[in-house]
Amino acid sequence: MFIPHVERSVTLSGELEKAFVCETCNTDYSYTQERMVVVKENFYSFSLSERSAFAKLRARAELKLAAKLGREFDIVPCPVCGWVQKPMIDYRNARGHFGWKVLALLSQLFGIVTGGIFIALAVEDWPSPNLLVFAGCWIGVFVGGGLAVAYLRRLILRRTDPNRGFERGLRDESHELPPPS
Ligand SMILES: [Zn+2]
Repeated sequence: MFIPHVERSVTLSGELEKAFVCETCNTDYSYTQERMVVVKENFYSFSLSERSAFAKLRARAELKLAAKLGREFDIVPCPVCGWVQKPMIDYRNARGHFGWKVLALLSQLFGIVTGGIFIALAVEDWPSPNLLVFAGCWIGVFVGGGLAVAYLRRLILRRTDPNRGFERGLRDESHELPPPS
């Protein structure tokens, strides 16, 4: 059955100045972070006036935008030494290659749940040591596979870490200040 509804959306953008003290050279610096959020909702009730519908969406968009601005970070290296600060790296590492993270968790969850069912069957319904061994291997493959994927993800994140060159001293030259003219 078709229920008449109206989709309404509110788009909100904002900015927040993020200030840092460089963890390596103690320089104070800041950047302006810009974010945009879109909040959509289908309104089924026409008792809600146009105005209150938008007020409701706007309030939600404001909350979402504030959370996004506060929680997220751009990668903005220190203008003096080139070091990328820890909150930026942490945010990047939590989000980067997120699909791999999900895949690793799903693989482990799948292995444990299905393996648990095999173990229950091996013990209860068809007492079978072979099935028990199979269940153990099954769990090992999926849990181990999940761990391997998680490890690979960390490896890639580490290899592409913006501070990697810095640690090796490669940054020093590229960020040297131009000679006074
Ligand atoms: Zn610095």
